[in-house]
This record gives sequence, C-alpha cells and structure tokens, in this order.
Amino acid sequence: MVAVRPVRNRLQELAALIVKRESGIDRVIRGPLDVDMRTCPECNYPVERFRKTCWVCGFEVGRQLVESGKT
Ligand SMILES: [Zn+2]
Repeated sequence: MVAVRPVRNRLQELAALIVKRESGIDRVIRGPLDVDMRTCPECNYPVERFRKTCWVCGFEVGRQLVESGKT
C-alpha cells in the first residue's frame, strides 16, 4: 500500500505558517544562549545570525556570518 499525503487547504496552510512562526519565536526565546544572536532592528527580538529574516516580524535582517577571531 502506498502512503498518500493529505492535501492541505488554504486555512490549513495558513495555520501551518502560524505554527512554524510560533515555534521559531519559542526557539529564539528559550533556545540555547550559546547560539550567536543579534537583535532585530524592527522588533528587538533575538535573531540567529545565520537567519535572513526575523522569526517574529519577518523583517529582512540579512545573514550575518561571524568572522573567526573577531567579536
Ligand atoms: Zn523582528
């Protein structure tokens, strides 16, 4: 028997996006603090340096790669 993946409707897609956003917010708030963070200029929530956009407001912060040996 072949597994069939259920097709999501628009409301389910929207709900999935909201859940993804909320889980991202949880991750940056409660995540390990050893991960290199900066704050979003729009909402001041923490953003991981490797992320292009803020989890919370979606502001495009751009990737900020850490140079080794510099703080
Ligand atoms: Zn933000």
